[in-house]
Amino acid sequence: MNLRDHIRDVPNFPKEGIVYFDITPLLADPKVFQYTIDMMAERFSEYKADKIAAAEARGFIFGAPLAYKLGIGFVPIRKPGKLPYDTISVSYDLEYGSDSLCMHVDAIAKGENVLLIDDVLATGGTAEGMVKLVEKAGGIVSGIGFLIELGFLDGAGRLKGIANSHLLKL
Ligand code: 5GP
Repeated sequence: MNLRDHIRDVPNFPKEGIVYFDITPLLADPKVFQYTIDMMAERFSEYKADKIAAAEARGFIFGAPLAYKLGIGFVPIRKPGKLPYDTISVSYDLEYGSDSLCMHVDAIAKGENVLLIDDVLATGGTAEGMVKLVEKAGGIVSGIGFLIELGFLDGAGRLKGIANSHLLKL
């Protein structure tokens, strides 16, 4: 099965000159979605983790079924103002400006190994923010798994020192 056949290229989204890789065709096909989660489980189980953490919104789509499959817990990372209990937060740099990510204070225990999951690695800003958040909680990032890595942006270069891999490189 070639996952590339199930990713739709959308030119000029979210702005002129950007090609957006749309994963919704992959999600809509039950066999392809199942295969994707199975492949992620096979590939990313090497990052021996106690928990998976992933950021809204698309990180949840892959992170939660993968946690179920691997038999480990799932931790949601969200934008400010969304989580009901006490939170810790970090700011991280985007291509233009910055943003914040939050997690419940008790979501990760000190010394716990955490696998981070996201759909796409672009500049690496989001992944870097998630790493900062897990480390702030006292957790250890054992690895980061992506469905797609956009090679031309060198996001992996920004994650040096942290094990990471992907199913598809574009
Ligand atoms: P970064 O912070 O690495 O620059 O951007 C990664 C974040 O933006 C990810 O959370 C990902 O969901 C989203 N993203 C950036 N480009 C794309 C794209 O072409 N397709 C999809 N599906 N998400 C993208």
